[in-house]
Amino acid sequence: MSDLIRLSAAELGERLASGDVSSVEATQAHLDRIAAVDGAVHAFLHVDGERALETAADIDRRRAAGDRLGALAGVPIAIKDVLVTEGMPSTAGSRILQGWLPPYDATPVRLVREAGMVPLGKTNMDEFAMGSSTEHSAYGPTHNPWDLERIPGGSGGGSAASVASFEAPLALGSDTGGSIRQPAHVTGTVGVKPTYGAVSRYGSIALASSLDQIGPVTRTVLDAALLHDVIAGHDPHDSTSIPEPWPSMADAVRRADVAGLRIGVVKQLDSDGFQAGVRQRFHEALELLERQGAEIVEVSAPHFEYAIAAYYLILPAEASSNLAKFDSVRFGLRVTPDGGGTVEQVMAATREAGFGPEVKRRIILGTYALSAGYYDAYYGSAQKVRTLVQRDFDAAFASVDVLATPTAPTTAFKLGEKLDDPLAMYLNDVATIPANLAGVPGISIPAGLAPEDGLPVGIQFLAPAREDARLYNVGGALEQLLLAEWGGPILDRAPDLSTHELLATEEGAV
Ligand code: GLN
Repeated sequence: MSDLIRLSAAELGERLASGDVSSVEATQAHLDRIAAVDGAVHAFLHVDGERALETAADIDRRRAAGDRLGALAGVPIAIKDVLVTEGMPSTAGSRILQGWLPPYDATPVRLVREAGMVPLGKTNMDEFAMGSSTEHSAYGPTHNPWDLERIPGGSGGGSAASVASFEAPLALGSDTGGSIRQPAHVTGTVGVKPTYGAVSRYGSIALASSLDQIGPVTRTVLDAALLHDVIAGHDPHDSTSIPEPWPSMADAVRRADVAGLRIGVVKQLDSDGFQAGVRQRFHEALELLERQGAEIVEVSAPHFEYAIAAYYLILPAEASSNLAKFDSVRFGLRVTPDGGGTVEQVMAATREAGFGPEVKRRIILGTYALSAGYYDAYYGSAQKVRTLVQRDFDAAFASVDVLATPTAPTTAFKLGEKLDDPLAMYLNDVATIPANLAGVPGISIPAGLAPEDGLPVGIQFLAPAREDARLYNVGGALEQLLLAEWGGPILDRAPDLSTHELLATEEGAV
């Protein structure tokens, strides 16, 4: 395996800046890796090697000409297919958008391009970001690089798997209920959901507009911070975008120090419902932080247990409205019934053929929850619960600086295991959803491997809105402590896919 693909984005950025390696070489190394392993992993829906190499060559020319370039200039990046990309297919994992070429770049994509980064392609995801396993993609599932028969998490399984299998040093994801953090948990990577409004949603194909947030998917906390610094900031195209400037997240990582930090452990999310190995690694991580001077206290968030129920009313309600625009007229697929049909019949045939079962389930649920006779009973009640969850956060943050929870209840489960059981699938989000309901930021970083199955486990930290830097402080500090404990990155222990025996047997392997 080429050394270039094992480097973190920060390290690669330094090698590029020193002239030691070119962006074309770094980009080619990642394209070669994709060609070697993506037949088995299936992290990408679309790879544009030609354009990536052109972009890389352009950055190399600019560097040679003495242009001042940022820390990540010339570094390749993978982009979740929920973000629209000019001239590059953008499907959000749905059949209904097959073949659609957007006329513009989403703001986070524009910003990574302006930072000189090199988009490699678009990553696989559950259709319209609905799911926790990437199995709801219309284009087939992504496989977890730790065990190809297991799920890579969802909805952003493609972004997490691309980073965990060294196909890309880092990626962009979207998190509506955990789709950046839960995939990070099951793949041994770092994932951040910024404060709601920190990163523009302009050009992000909306799932639930009051919950969606774009964020970094990386192998190190510093890489997440560097990418966060690139994509965060005010955007007049998004009316929920926060106008105030942000401090440097990379500085927070470099100055990481947890002495005196008060960390609240959410009692309700430290229970028997979580796999033993997940809890064990969680508590070991907290002990490491305590030894560095952090204070660990128990806090109660009594309404978190209703968060999933509220989320699965609010999310479908907003999604049913957002997805109404896929009407066969404006974007992508158009199916005309045999012998022709009225506008309504074409629309119905297109939506019938273009949407998968999970999307249809949520559209029906959302339409029902918003209907005149039921609005107060369902949608109205869910909004009240949302307020109670926000108050739980306010009360907790009155006495602690950050909250800590395991990121998700279990390690990666087998592909197919929960596909026919929507409720079991929804329960994956129990620890991640509260942050989206309250708009607060969250990070998941690797906490080790569960002793019972040897699979990765994440620890999540949550901070008050606009205090994203606190997550980078505690995440950066814990990462250093764990690296010393493990003697190297956790992903060094993942199977080397280029020689993995499963590669030969995997369907569609190259
Ligand atoms: N698993 C959650 C859901 O299915 C999270 C989705 C997300 O964050 N995009 O809604």
